[in-house]
Amino acid sequence: MAGQDKMAAVPQAVYRPASVEEAWALKQKFGGAAALIAGGTLLQMKREQGAVFPPCLISLEHIKELYDIHVSAQNLAIGSCVRLSDLRKNSLIEKDWHILHEAVRRVAAPAVRNRATIGGNVCYMSGDTIPALLSLGAKAVWFDGDYKTDDLQVFLQQAPLHPSCILTAILLPEPPAVEKKICFYQKIGRRAAFTPSLTVVSFFAGLTNENRVEQIRIAAGGGSSFPKRLTACEQFLKGKVLAEEVMAVAHEKIMEEYDPLPDAFATVDYRKKAASNLIVSTFISFLNGKDGADEAEA
Ligand SMILES: Cc1cc2nc3c(=O)[nH]c(=O)nc-3n(C[C@H](O)[C@H](O)[C@H](O)COP(=O)(O)OP(=O)(O)OC[C@H]3O[C@@H](n4cnc5c(N)ncnc54)[C@H](O)[C@@H]3O)c2cc1C
Repeated sequence: MAGQDKMAAVPQAVYRPASVEEAWALKQKFGGAAALIAGGTLLQMKREQGAVFPPCLISLEHIKELYDIHVSAQNLAIGSCVRLSDLRKNSLIEKDWHILHEAVRRVAAPAVRNRATIGGNVCYMSGDTIPALLSLGAKAVWFDGDYKTDDLQVFLQQAPLHPSCILTAILLPEPPAVEKKICFYQKIGRRAAFTPSLTVVSFFAGLTNENRVEQIRIAAGGGSSFPKRLTACEQFLKGKVLAEEVMAVAHEKIMEEYDPLPDAFATVDYRKKAASNLIVSTFISFLNGKDGADEAEA
Protein backbone atom coordinates (compact mmCIF):
# COMPACT_ATOMS: atom_id res chain seq x y z
CA MET A 1 0.00 0.00 0.00
CA ALA A 2 1.02 3.66 -0.31
CA GLY A 3 3.14 5.21 2.40
CA GLN A 4 5.61 2.38 2.95
CA ASP A 5 8.93 3.43 4.48
CA LYS A 6 12.22 1.60 5.13
CA MET A 7 13.58 2.40 1.69
CA ALA A 8 16.99 1.24 0.35
CA ALA A 9 19.08 2.64 -2.51
CA VAL A 10 18.09 -0.08 -4.98
CA PRO A 11 15.77 -3.04 -4.48
CA GLN A 12 17.78 -6.12 -3.54
CA ALA A 13 15.14 -8.52 -4.79
CA VAL A 14 12.15 -8.35 -7.09
CA TYR A 15 9.61 -11.13 -6.71
CA ARG A 16 7.15 -11.93 -9.50
CA PRO A 17 4.53 -14.25 -8.01
CA ALA A 18 1.97 -15.89 -10.30
CA SER A 19 -0.93 -15.80 -7.84
CA VAL A 20 -2.53 -13.37 -5.42
CA GLU A 21 -2.04 -15.84 -2.56
CA GLU A 22 1.69 -16.10 -3.28
CA ALA A 23 2.07 -12.31 -3.47
CA TRP A 24 0.25 -11.91 -0.17
CA ALA A 25 2.41 -14.59 1.52
CA LEU A 26 5.56 -12.75 0.38
CA LYS A 27 4.25 -9.45 1.73
CA GLN A 28 3.37 -11.13 5.02
CA LYS A 29 6.90 -12.55 5.20
CA PHE A 30 8.80 -9.32 4.44
CA GLY A 31 6.40 -6.80 6.00
CA GLY A 32 7.62 -3.20 5.74
CA ALA A 33 10.81 -4.31 3.96
CA ALA A 34 8.76 -5.05 0.83
CA ALA A 35 6.41 -3.02 -1.34
CA LEU A 36 3.76 -4.27 -3.72
CA ILE A 37 4.22 -2.79 -7.16
CA ALA A 38 1.80 -2.76 -10.10
CA GLY A 39 2.57 -0.22 -12.86
CA GLY A 40 5.28 1.34 -10.69
CA THR A 41 4.58 4.92 -11.80
CA LEU A 42 3.86 6.28 -8.33
CA LEU A 43 6.76 4.43 -6.74
CA GLN A 44 9.10 5.64 -9.49
CA MET A 45 7.90 9.20 -9.03
CA LYS A 46 8.52 8.97 -5.28
CA ARG A 47 12.02 7.70 -5.97
CA GLU A 48 12.67 10.66 -8.27
CA GLN A 49 11.48 12.92 -5.45
CA GLY A 50 14.10 11.50 -3.09
CA ALA A 51 12.61 8.33 -1.63
CA VAL A 52 14.25 5.06 -2.61
CA PHE A 53 12.77 1.62 -3.11
CA PRO A 54 12.44 -0.78 -0.16
CA PRO A 55 14.78 -3.81 -0.19
CA CYS A 56 12.14 -6.05 -1.83
CA LEU A 57 9.55 -5.39 -4.48
CA ILE A 58 6.64 -7.75 -5.04
CA SER A 59 5.41 -7.21 -8.57
CA LEU A 60 1.79 -8.04 -9.35
CA GLU A 61 2.46 -7.95 -13.09
CA HIS A 62 2.52 -11.74 -13.63
CA ILE A 63 -0.83 -12.45 -11.98
CA LYS A 64 -3.02 -13.05 -15.01
CA GLU A 65 -6.38 -12.87 -13.24
CA LEU A 66 -5.71 -9.22 -12.29
CA TYR A 67 -5.94 -8.16 -15.96
CA ASP A 68 -9.54 -9.29 -16.61
CA ILE A 69 -12.41 -6.97 -17.46
CA HIS A 70 -15.69 -8.86 -17.55
CA VAL A 71 -19.40 -8.13 -17.36
CA SER A 72 -21.86 -10.18 -15.33
CA ALA A 73 -25.58 -9.70 -14.80
CA GLN A 74 -24.96 -7.29 -11.90
CA ASN A 75 -21.47 -5.84 -12.35
CA LEU A 76 -18.59 -4.80 -14.48
CA ALA A 77 -15.51 -6.35 -12.85
CA ILE A 78 -12.18 -4.62 -13.52
CA GLY A 79 -9.00 -6.43 -12.43
CA SER A 80 -6.70 -4.26 -10.35
CA CYS A 81 -3.79 -4.50 -12.84
CA VAL A 82 -5.83 -3.21 -15.78
CA ARG A 83 -3.93 -0.23 -17.20
CA LEU A 84 -5.61 3.17 -17.22
CA SER A 85 -5.03 3.35 -21.00
CA ASP A 86 -6.97 0.08 -21.45
CA LEU A 87 -9.86 1.42 -19.38
CA ARG A 88 -9.87 4.48 -21.58
CA LYS A 89 -10.11 2.31 -24.74
CA ASN A 90 -12.94 0.15 -23.39
CA SER A 91 -16.12 1.05 -25.30
CA LEU A 92 -18.42 -0.38 -22.62
CA ILE A 93 -16.87 1.85 -19.97
CA GLU A 94 -17.09 4.83 -22.30
CA LYS A 95 -20.79 4.18 -22.86
CA ASP A 96 -22.14 2.98 -19.50
CA TRP A 97 -19.61 4.16 -16.90
CA HIS A 98 -18.66 7.41 -18.57
CA ILE A 99 -17.62 9.11 -15.32
CA LEU A 100 -14.75 6.63 -14.97
CA HIS A 101 -13.79 7.05 -18.61
CA GLU A 102 -13.55 10.80 -18.05
CA ALA A 103 -11.66 10.45 -14.76
CA VAL A 104 -9.03 8.23 -16.42
CA ARG A 105 -8.59 10.75 -19.22
CA ARG A 106 -7.68 13.35 -16.60
CA VAL A 107 -4.92 11.28 -14.95
CA ALA A 108 -1.40 12.25 -16.06
CA ALA A 109 -0.26 11.93 -19.69
CA PRO A 110 -0.70 8.95 -22.07
CA ALA A 111 2.79 7.58 -21.35
CA VAL A 112 1.98 7.30 -17.63
CA ARG A 113 -1.50 5.89 -18.32
CA ASN A 114 0.10 3.16 -20.46
CA ARG A 115 1.83 1.81 -17.31
CA ALA A 116 -0.39 2.98 -14.46
CA THR A 117 -3.05 0.60 -13.17
CA ILE A 118 -6.46 1.23 -11.65
CA GLY A 119 -5.38 -0.70 -8.53
CA GLY A 120 -2.31 1.51 -8.11
CA ASN A 121 -4.44 4.61 -8.49
CA VAL A 122 -6.87 3.44 -5.81
CA CYS A 123 -4.17 2.14 -3.43
CA TYR A 124 -2.34 5.44 -3.71
CA MET A 125 -5.35 6.54 -1.58
CA SER A 126 -5.55 9.98 -3.21
CA GLY A 127 -5.85 8.85 -6.84
CA ASP A 128 -8.04 10.98 -9.04
CA THR A 129 -10.19 8.03 -10.13
CA ILE A 130 -11.40 7.42 -6.57
CA PRO A 131 -14.15 10.11 -6.48
CA ALA A 132 -15.43 8.78 -9.83
CA LEU A 133 -15.51 5.21 -8.53
CA LEU A 134 -17.27 6.29 -5.31
CA SER A 135 -19.93 8.16 -7.27
CA LEU A 136 -20.50 5.03 -9.39
CA GLY A 137 -21.12 2.93 -6.26
CA ALA A 138 -17.95 0.84 -6.73
CA LYS A 139 -17.04 -2.12 -4.55
CA ALA A 140 -13.53 -3.40 -3.90
CA VAL A 141 -12.55 -7.08 -3.95
CA TRP A 142 -9.45 -7.57 -1.82
CA PHE A 143 -7.35 -10.37 -0.42
CA ASP A 144 -5.92 -10.51 3.08
CA GLY A 145 -5.70 -14.25 3.77
CA ASP A 146 -9.16 -14.62 2.29
CA TYR A 147 -11.20 -12.69 -0.26
CA LYS A 148 -13.50 -9.89 0.88
CA THR A 149 -15.87 -7.63 -1.03
CA ASP A 150 -16.68 -4.22 0.45
CA ASP A 151 -17.88 -0.82 -0.62
CA LEU A 152 -14.86 1.04 -1.93
CA GLN A 153 -15.18 3.59 0.89
CA VAL A 154 -14.89 0.77 3.45
CA PHE A 155 -11.86 -0.68 1.65
CA LEU A 156 -10.16 2.74 1.70
CA GLN A 157 -10.69 2.93 5.47
CA GLN A 158 -9.60 -0.67 6.08
CA ALA A 159 -6.59 -0.92 3.77
CA PRO A 160 -4.12 1.09 5.93
CA LEU A 161 -4.91 -1.30 8.81
CA HIS A 162 -4.06 -4.32 6.61
CA PRO A 163 -0.62 -3.59 5.15
CA SER A 164 -0.37 -6.91 3.28
CA CYS A 165 -3.77 -6.63 1.62
CA ILE A 166 -4.01 -6.81 -2.15
CA LEU A 167 -6.76 -5.11 -4.10
CA THR A 168 -7.77 -7.62 -6.76
CA ALA A 169 -10.75 -6.04 -8.54
CA ILE A 170 -13.15 -3.13 -8.68
CA LEU A 171 -16.83 -3.95 -9.20
CA LEU A 172 -19.09 -1.36 -10.81
CA PRO A 173 -22.84 -1.97 -10.53
CA GLU A 174 -24.92 -1.83 -13.70
CA PRO A 175 -26.12 1.74 -14.35
CA PRO A 176 -29.58 2.06 -12.78
CA ALA A 177 -32.66 2.48 -14.97
CA VAL A 178 -33.78 6.06 -14.26
CA GLU A 179 -35.89 8.52 -16.22
CA LYS A 180 -33.17 11.18 -16.28
CA LYS A 181 -29.63 11.34 -15.00
CA ILE A 182 -26.77 13.75 -14.45
CA CYS A 183 -23.24 12.32 -14.47
CA PHE A 184 -20.43 14.66 -13.59
CA TYR A 185 -16.67 14.51 -13.04
CA GLN A 186 -14.42 17.51 -12.75
CA LYS A 187 -10.82 17.88 -11.66
CA ILE A 188 -9.25 21.23 -10.90
CA GLY A 189 -5.48 21.11 -11.14
CA ARG A 190 -2.71 23.64 -11.32
CA ARG A 191 -1.13 22.50 -14.57
CA ALA A 192 -0.96 19.52 -16.89
CA ALA A 193 2.25 18.06 -15.43
CA PHE A 194 1.69 16.17 -12.21
CA THR A 195 0.99 18.13 -9.12
CA PRO A 196 -1.70 16.80 -6.84
CA SER A 197 -5.11 17.96 -8.05
CA LEU A 198 -6.62 20.81 -6.02
CA THR A 199 -10.17 19.51 -6.03
CA VAL A 200 -11.91 16.57 -7.66
CA VAL A 201 -15.68 16.19 -7.56
CA SER A 202 -17.86 13.54 -9.09
CA PHE A 203 -21.52 12.71 -8.80
CA PHE A 204 -24.28 10.59 -10.22
CA ALA A 205 -27.91 11.71 -9.86
CA GLY A 206 -30.88 9.66 -11.05
CA LEU A 207 -34.02 11.79 -11.43
CA THR A 208 -37.69 11.39 -12.27
CA ASN A 209 -39.10 13.35 -15.21
CA GLU A 210 -40.19 15.96 -12.62
CA ASN A 211 -36.55 16.31 -11.45
CA ARG A 212 -37.15 14.51 -8.15
CA VAL A 213 -33.89 12.99 -6.92
CA GLU A 214 -34.28 9.21 -6.71
CA GLN A 215 -30.64 8.20 -6.47
CA ILE A 216 -27.61 10.26 -5.65
CA ARG A 217 -23.95 9.65 -4.94
CA ILE A 218 -21.62 12.62 -4.51
CA ALA A 219 -17.89 12.27 -3.87
CA ALA A 220 -15.06 14.75 -3.44
CA GLY A 221 -11.30 14.54 -3.08
CA GLY A 222 -8.19 16.19 -4.43
CA GLY A 223 -4.72 17.01 -3.14
CA SER A 224 -3.78 14.71 -0.31
CA SER A 225 -7.35 14.73 1.02
CA PHE A 226 -8.92 11.36 1.58
CA PRO A 227 -11.65 11.08 -1.11
CA LYS A 228 -15.09 10.42 0.35
CA ARG A 229 -18.81 10.41 -0.25
CA LEU A 230 -20.75 13.48 0.94
CA THR A 231 -23.50 11.47 2.56
CA ALA A 232 -25.19 14.28 4.54
CA CYS A 233 -25.67 16.25 1.33
CA GLU A 234 -26.87 13.11 -0.47
CA GLN A 235 -29.46 12.47 2.26
CA PHE A 236 -30.63 16.07 2.09
CA LEU A 237 -31.15 15.90 -1.70
CA LYS A 238 -32.73 12.45 -1.87
CA GLY A 239 -36.48 12.71 -2.53
CA LYS A 240 -36.36 16.47 -3.20
CA VAL A 241 -37.38 18.11 -6.46
CA LEU A 242 -34.38 20.03 -7.78
CA ALA A 243 -34.78 23.80 -7.55
CA GLU A 244 -32.42 26.72 -7.02
CA GLU A 245 -33.53 27.13 -3.35
CA VAL A 246 -32.84 23.44 -2.70
CA MET A 247 -29.40 23.75 -4.25
CA ALA A 248 -28.63 26.82 -2.10
CA VAL A 249 -29.12 24.64 1.00
CA ALA A 250 -27.11 21.82 -0.64
CA HIS A 251 -24.25 24.31 -1.08
CA GLU A 252 -24.28 25.01 2.68
CA LYS A 253 -24.37 21.28 3.43
CA ILE A 254 -21.30 20.63 1.27
CA MET A 255 -19.43 23.53 2.90
CA GLU A 256 -20.20 21.97 6.31
CA GLU A 257 -19.51 18.37 5.37
CA TYR A 258 -16.50 18.43 3.05
CA ASP A 259 -13.30 18.54 5.11
CA PRO A 260 -10.29 18.67 2.76
CA LEU A 261 -6.72 19.08 3.96
CA PRO A 262 -4.76 22.27 3.28
CA ASP A 263 -1.41 22.13 1.47
CA ALA A 264 1.07 24.51 -0.13
CA PHE A 265 -1.22 24.96 -3.17
CA ALA A 266 -4.70 25.68 -1.75
CA THR A 267 -6.44 26.48 1.51
CA VAL A 268 -9.22 24.44 3.03
CA ASP A 269 -11.67 27.26 2.30
CA TYR A 270 -10.69 27.37 -1.39
CA ARG A 271 -11.16 23.62 -1.75
CA LYS A 272 -14.53 23.66 0.03
CA LYS A 273 -15.83 26.52 -2.11
CA ALA A 274 -14.50 24.97 -5.32
CA ALA A 275 -16.23 21.65 -4.57
CA SER A 276 -19.53 23.27 -3.49
CA ASN A 277 -19.60 25.67 -6.44
CA LEU A 278 -18.83 22.96 -9.00
CA ILE A 279 -21.52 20.61 -7.72
CA VAL A 280 -24.23 23.22 -7.27
CA SER A 281 -23.55 25.07 -10.52
CA THR A 282 -23.79 21.79 -12.44
CA PHE A 283 -27.23 21.08 -10.99
CA ILE A 284 -28.38 24.65 -11.70
CA SER A 285 -27.10 24.50 -15.29
CA PHE A 286 -29.03 21.26 -15.69
CA LEU A 287 -32.18 22.96 -14.36
CA ASN A 288 -31.68 25.80 -16.82
CA GLY A 289 -31.41 23.33 -19.67
CA LYS A 290 -27.71 23.94 -20.21
CA ASP A 291 -24.98 21.35 -20.52
CA GLY A 292 -24.13 21.55 -16.84
CA ALA A 293 -22.30 18.27 -16.72
CA ASP A 294 -19.13 19.45 -18.42
CA GLU A 295 -17.38 16.82 -20.54
CA ALA A 296 -18.81 14.01 -18.44
CA GLU A 297 -22.47 14.60 -19.31
CA ALA A 298 -24.08 11.28 -20.13
C1 LIG B 1 4.13 12.17 -14.31
C2 LIG B 1 3.07 11.59 -13.40
C3 LIG B 1 1.81 12.16 -13.41
C4 LIG B 1 0.81 11.65 -12.56
N1 LIG B 1 -0.43 12.24 -12.59
C5 LIG B 1 -1.41 11.74 -11.81
C6 LIG B 1 -2.72 12.32 -11.86
O1 LIG B 1 -3.00 13.26 -12.61
N2 LIG B 1 -3.67 11.79 -11.04
C7 LIG B 1 -3.42 10.72 -10.22
O2 LIG B 1 -4.33 10.25 -9.55
N3 LIG B 1 -2.19 10.18 -10.15
C8 LIG B 1 -1.17 10.65 -10.91
N4 LIG B 1 0.07 10.10 -10.84
C9 LIG B 1 0.34 9.07 -9.81
C10 LIG B 1 0.28 7.59 -10.32
O3 LIG B 1 1.01 7.42 -11.48
C11 LIG B 1 -1.12 7.07 -10.60
O4 LIG B 1 -1.91 7.30 -9.46
C12 LIG B 1 -1.16 5.59 -11.01
O5 LIG B 1 -2.49 5.21 -11.31
C13 LIG B 1 -0.60 4.62 -9.99
O6 LIG B 1 -0.71 3.30 -10.54
P1 LIG B 1 0.54 2.31 -10.62
O7 LIG B 1 0.02 1.01 -11.13
O8 LIG B 1 1.67 2.87 -11.37
O9 LIG B 1 0.88 2.21 -9.06
P2 LIG B 1 2.23 1.76 -8.34
O10 LIG B 1 3.23 2.86 -8.41
O11 LIG B 1 2.66 0.41 -8.80
O12 LIG B 1 1.67 1.62 -6.85
C14 LIG B 1 1.08 2.71 -6.17
C15 LIG B 1 0.82 2.30 -4.71
O13 LIG B 1 -0.24 1.35 -4.65
C16 LIG B 1 0.21 0.10 -4.10
N5 LIG B 1 -0.46 -0.92 -4.93
C17 LIG B 1 -0.48 -0.98 -6.29
N6 LIG B 1 -1.31 -1.95 -6.70
C18 LIG B 1 -1.83 -2.52 -5.58
C19 LIG B 1 -2.77 -3.58 -5.34
N7 LIG B 1 -3.38 -4.24 -6.36
N8 LIG B 1 -3.07 -3.90 -4.06
C20 LIG B 1 -2.49 -3.24 -3.02
N9 LIG B 1 -1.60 -2.22 -3.18
C21 LIG B 1 -1.28 -1.87 -4.44
C22 LIG B 1 1.72 0.12 -4.20
O14 LIG B 1 2.32 -0.64 -3.17
C23 LIG B 1 2.01 1.61 -4.05
O15 LIG B 1 2.00 1.97 -2.69
C24 LIG B 1 1.09 10.56 -11.69
C25 LIG B 1 2.38 9.98 -11.72
C26 LIG B 1 3.35 10.49 -12.55
C27 LIG B 1 4.70 9.82 -12.56
